[in-house]
Amino acid sequence: VIRSKQDRRPLRIAYGRIFHEANSYSPLKTERSNFEDFHFYRGEDVASLVTPSVYELGKVLRKAELTGFHSAAKAAGNIECVPLMSALAVPSGPLSQECFAWMRDELRGALERVGEVDAVYMALHGSMRVSGLDQAPEAVILADLRDALGSVPIAASFDLHANLTPAIVDHLDLLEAYRTNPHRDLYRTGRRAGRQLIAMARGEVQPTRAWRKLPMLLGGGTTIDFLHPMRGIFMHIKRLLMRRDVLSAHVCMVHPFTDAPDLGWAVHVCTDDNQALADSLADELADRVWKVRKVDLPDMKTPAEAIEEVRRSRVSRALGQVSVVDTCDIVGAGSTGGSTHLLDALVREAGDLTVYVPMHDPRLVDELWERSPGDRVESTVRGTPGLPDQPEVPVAGRIGVRTMTDFGRTVVLEHENLRIAVTEKPPGTLHPRFWADLGLSPWHADAIVQKFFFHYRLFYAPTSRRSIPVMSKGPSSLDNVRKRHFDEPMWPQSPISEWRSFDHKRRVATP
Ligand SMILES: [Zn+2]
Repeated sequence: VIRSKQDRRPLRIAYGRIFHEANSYSPLKTERSNFEDFHFYRGEDVASLVTPSVYELGKVLRKAELTGFHSAAKAAGNIECVPLMSALAVPSGPLSQECFAWMRDELRGALERVGEVDAVYMALHGSMRVSGLDQAPEAVILADLRDALGSVPIAASFDLHANLTPAIVDHLDLLEAYRTNPHRDLYRTGRRAGRQLIAMARGEVQPTRAWRKLPMLLGGGTTIDFLHPMRGIFMHIKRLLMRRDVLSAHVCMVHPFTDAPDLGWAVHVCTDDNQALADSLADELADRVWKVRKVDLPDMKTPAEAIEEVRRSRVSRALGQVSVVDTCDIVGAGSTGGSTHLLDALVREAGDLTVYVPMHDPRLVDELWERSPGDRVESTVRGTPGLPDQPEVPVAGRIGVRTMTDFGRTVVLEHENLRIAVTEKPPGTLHPRFWADLGLSPWHADAIVQKFFFHYRLFYAPTSRRSIPVMSKGPSSLDNVRKRHFDEPMWPQSPISEWRSFDHKRRVATP
């Protein structure tokens, strides 16, 4: 007897988020307070994040995965959404063991509180790390869920930069991930995961999956989804999704700046009850991805070359300022914002240019905080404590504005025409408002140093049409990745020509 939807009791589906992207080359640890100060909610407070009028993520994003999941549930009808927890901290070093133990306790506590459920959805990142833990923390989280819930369907969504491992994939029934870079589909990803999970819990589909793990760390050029060569791959995925029997298809291209032992790009395909099709589509997608491994990033400048280019960019400077992107110190990729290489070059060679530079140096903040604006100082910028291989940069000038910002105590140091904003916490400065609040108009700068790959462009579009990527030395330096040793052959370390003979072994979970 088939009962109508209304006759059935509502499906209880629990949902939550544990989200962090780690950079293993950062000397900073991510602690409980980094979550609590940024984004941490329990139970009903999570439910309040998914209402349309509320910003789900900080001041930045109104609708992300959990709002997407919630809207899928609402559209499906007869679903009771049961909030667990939501935790997110800005990318930084690995979690401390204490922090991760606390996070697991929180999740287990939340599962106990909600009692029996019919399914679970979790929004995860996939490039989390915990110091001293070889395994993917997400695999541990999913194992905790399995322990608590038995065989109920579990869906998780991931960042496009996730590192899929056997333990992650095997604990799941459904796997979703972003398909845009820069990421613009958080909401859609949560909604897709929600729709599929509901269909599975109702017995309407039978997710049947295949994945492949490639011995590949870098490739895909800029890896931007709408530019060559990744555009072709995402177009191919779009075509696959037009088939009724294909539920999802993804490429996960890892955050390369972690020490995960089993790092590597992966593809994942899910069909409706057709294993052979899932396998053949996964092979085909993997072949396409493997082909773009040799497409490298565009050339980057040395600090000296970049300074010369700023000097020559008269039109860009007249209309606003040049953005100088310190690609080795990207706070958005978990770096600290306290690499001193670029600053060293600016102090020595660019005194004639008005350049705004954010700089993480908590020791210098301590030293300068008691001084008054206008005081003359001679001091040394040393950047993030514990960051290896950084020059000490002597500076002499005046104290400018001293104030609290989103990045803790902040002091402006004026050295010739340079304006150095010395911050207590990593300066994730995306918005020109940061400088305006320090009394520094972005219009007056010849150049502003950016510590994001891309997102700053949204906010600087009116003043900056020119970006110069610079190579220095820091936690988001690709040199770290290229020099890393692996026991197994790995692209680009080894000139491997095919992926198949490495794939199978890497998909088998070690007990
Ligand atoms: Zn990402």
